[in-house]
Amino acid sequence: MQNIVLPILSVVLGYLVVLVLKPKQNKNLKLLLAFSGAFLLSITVFSFLPEVYSTDNNHIGIFIMMGILLQIILEFFSKGAEHGHVHIDKEAVVFPWLLFISLSIHSVLEGVPIHAHDSLIYGIIIHKLPVAIILATFFSASKMSKTKSLLFLLLFALMTPLGVFLSTNFSIIETYFTEISAVVIGIFLHISTTILFESNEGHKFNITKLLTIVIAIVLAYFI
Ligand SMILES: [Zn+2]
Ligand SMILES: [Zn+2]
Repeated sequence: MQNIVLPILSVVLGYLVVLVLKPKQNKNLKLLLAFSGAFLLSITVFSFLPEVYSTDNNHIGIFIMMGILLQIILEFFSKGAEHGHVHIDKEAVVFPWLLFISLSIHSVLEGVPIHAHDSLIYGIIIHKLPVAIILATFFSASKMSKTKSLLFLLLFALMTPLGVFLSTNFSIIETYFTEISAVVIGIFLHISTTILFESNEGHKFNITKLLTIVIAIVLAYFI
């Protein structure tokens, strides 16, 4: 049940943060992003990756690389929303279908392995929070109608729970569970390392950011 509810709450929380606090593209959001990237990467490396590798499937590595490629392709359409920035036209009033479909494929896929890996849900909701904040910030500044914006966020919130639902109710997904999990590992490796790379602008030394990343790694290790 928490696998269905927590991803939705994460998006709702992101929306409320924007509604109540009206954050600008500021330092705190960058820190939250760095935290989420380091945390997701650590959860992946500490538990998700070894668990999937311990199955008797010989093609894990190939599917991980396919996941990385898939995420690169998805980002041609989402322009990087999964890892923290939106580049669509603020003047646009039509529903951003490409962004939506790209984010949806990503989010449904990441919902599939949740139920079999204990700490994965935390990595996912912590990575979803800044994404929701960024989307909500973009929509509130855009010319998009409130209905379309809310519909977008609502459907976006339901995609990872949809992945959880499909994975626990359809045997075809059970059959390819390990392969899909490996693809999700590739997706996570790509987005989390991109977040860490992009949050480190100019390779300047930033003690707050470094500490944030260390705390995320330590927390992920003990969770
Ligand atoms: Zn980017
Ligand atoms: Zn995601």
